[in-house]
Amino acid sequence: MKRKAIYPGSFDPPTNGHLDLIERGSKIFDELIVAILRNPEKDPLFSVNERRQMLESMTGGFDNVSVDTFHGLTVDYALRVEAQAILRGIRAISDYEYELQMALMNRKLQPGLETVFMMPAAKYSYLSSRLVREVAQLGGPVDCLVPDLVVQKLREKMDVANKFGGAAGAHESEARSADRAAAERKTKSRKRKS
Ligand code: ADP
Repeated sequence: MKRKAIYPGSFDPPTNGHLDLIERGSKIFDELIVAILRNPEKDPLFSVNERRQMLESMTGGFDNVSVDTFHGLTVDYALRVEAQAILRGIRAISDYEYELQMALMNRKLQPGLETVFMMPAAKYSYLSSRLVREVAQLGGPVDCLVPDLVVQKLREKMDVANKFGGAAGAHESEARSADRAAAERKTKSRKRKS
């Protein structure tokens, strides 16, 4: 029997940490499906289609990896595509509690389905999509954190947000006013000293 796994997540955006895990997973499973959760309650930076396109380009070099989307219970999706395992990443001890709860709940819902945890290379163990979004929105460099095509997509998003005064624009002006306040504090303390 072929060993098939799904790798579910938000991937908003996909990072080098996700890619590291996909590469490791592709070596131990005959088939790996990267499954993007369509969650109407979350307000993502990238649409499901954008995330799908990025992941498809990133995984084009792996013969046994495909990309799909799903909504609802992960275990139902796994059954539908006849996977025997759910692949998840553990970066630090902080991931463990949540991942353990989810794995045990999934086991309760579907006892035949295994959750397999893998650890990324140590250099990606601090990396998360949320951090990448925050650094990008504040104008910081993200080129070592995500593949080039994601850097490009993030730039495009930030340009649009800045143009229309979106979240990135707001973050930028917050950062500028914090800088200004710090400069004013310095000048005042210099005046006091002199
Ligand atoms: P979710 O909202 O389901 O946590 P994510 O896209 O944030 O979706 O993560 C999907 C999976 O990938 C999770 O198991 C997460 O622990 C794992 N993951 C995220 N970032 C990394 C990383 N840098 N290294 C290894 N695994 C990661």
